[in-house]
Amino acid sequence: MDIHEYQAKEVLAGFGVAVPTGALAYSPEQAAYRARELGGERWVVKAQVHAGGRGKAGGVKVCTSDSEINDVCETMFGMKLVTHQTGPEGKGVYRVYVEAAVPIAREIYLGFVLDRTTQRVMIVASAEGGMEIEEISAEKPESIVRAEVEPAVGLREFQCRQIAFKLGIEPGLTQQLVRTLQGAYRAFTELDATMVEINPLVVTDDNRIIALDAKMTFDDNALFRHPQIAELRDKSQEDPRESRAADRGLSYVGLDGNIGCIVNGAGLAMATMDTIKLAGGEPANFLDIGGGATPERVAKAFRLVLSDKNVQAILVNIFAGINRCDWVAEGVVQALKEVEVEVPVIVRLAGTNVEEGQKILAKSGLPIIRARTLNEAAERAVGAWRNDLSQGVTVRAVS
Ligand code: GDP
Ligand code: MN
Repeated sequence: MDIHEYQAKEVLAGFGVAVPTGALAYSPEQAAYRARELGGERWVVKAQVHAGGRGKAGGVKVCTSDSEINDVCETMFGMKLVTHQTGPEGKGVYRVYVEAAVPIAREIYLGFVLDRTTQRVMIVASAEGGMEIEEISAEKPESIVRAEVEPAVGLREFQCRQIAFKLGIEPGLTQQLVRTLQGAYRAFTELDATMVEINPLVVTDDNRIIALDAKMTFDDNALFRHPQIAELRDKSQEDPRESRAADRGLSYVGLDGNIGCIVNGAGLAMATMDTIKLAGGEPANFLDIGGGATPERVAKAFRLVLSDKNVQAILVNIFAGINRCDWVAEGVVQALKEVEVEVPVIVRLAGTNVEEGQKILAKSGLPIIRARTLNEAAERAVGAWRNDLSQGVTVRAVS
C-alpha cells in the first residue's frame, strides 16, 4: 500500500527525520489560509497523489502570495495529474500540501528497498538528488552509493558515516545525516515498509538536512499489525478495479489487453497470461481467484472481469487439485446464469473429475467454448476475440 507524501513525512518525523513545516488543504481557500498560518513569504504547493514526478508534471509549485496559491490551487484541485509514474489516465488531485519553502543548497537521493538477492534492506543514495533513480542509474551510475544492513544488528552508525563521506557531506553535518538514515531505517523495519524514498533529501543554505519529499510503500500482508498505517489508505489513488477486487478477497491486477482471465493460483494465472500472448492476444488482467473456486467466487470474478469495458473474451482456466472440476463447472454454469456475460467464454478445466466437469459444461446448454489444454484455450480465446472484432458483434453467452 502506498501513502501520500504528507503522511510519509509525518511518519518519518515520528522517527526523528527532519521535515519542512507544512499543512494539508482540501480547497484553494484552505490552502491560502494554511499558508498564512505557516507564515513566511514563499510556499510550495504540492499535489498529493500516489506517484512521483509531480514536479515536472505541474504538481509542485513555488508561490509567493495568497492569490498565487489560490490560482495554482484552482488548476490543481480536481485535475488528473499525469506523471511518468501514473500511466496515461493520471491520478486525481483532491488534497494539496502547503509547505514553507526551503532554501536548497544541495539535493541528495536516498532510498531504502528490500533487496531480494541478499534478503536485506539496501540503502541506495546518490549526490545527484532531484533526478529520479532510474535517470541517475542511467546517466550517473558512478554516483550511486549502496549499503546493506545486517538485520541482526541493524543500521550501524559507522555505516551511516561512510555513506555521508561518500556523498561528500560536510563533516559538521554528518550527525544530521546519521539521524536521518537511522530514523528512516527504523521506520522501514518497525512499520513493515517495502520502500522508503526521500528524493530530494536536501542540505539547506543554513546547513540543515531536511526530507523535502517522501514516499513510503507498505507490505499489504503486514498491515494488520499497523492499524494506524492501514488507516492512511486513500482509495481515490488506487485502480478502482483493483481496490474492488482486494475488498472481495481476490487478487487482481488490471492490464491493457482485452482477454479477461479467471484462473486459480498465481502461477497458473501468470502462465495463462503468457500463453495468451503467445497465441497473439493481450490479457486484460491478472486474476487469481484462490483455491476454493466456489460458485460465489466464480460469479464475483466474472463481475469483476466484466467491469473492465475493454474485455472482449473471457478465458477461465482452472486446475483442480484439492478442488474438483465438477464443482468448478457447476460454479461456472451458475455464475453464467447469474451474471450477464455478452462476450465469448472459453473454459479449460484440468485435474480431479475433469470428465464430469466437461459433461456439466456441455449439458448446461450455455454457449461455452471448451478447451482441453491451455494452448487450445488461449488459441480459442484469441480466435473468438478476433472473430468478434471482425464481425463487430458480440456473442451472447446468456440471453
Ligand atoms: P516529485 O517531483 O513528485 O518528486 O516532487 P518533489 O517533492 O520531489 O518536488 C520536486 C522538486 O521541486 C524538488 O526536487 C525541488 O527541486 C523542488 N522543490 C520542492 N520543494 C521545494 C522547496 O521547498 N523549495 C525549493 N526551492 N524547491 C522545492
Ligand atoms: Mn521527489
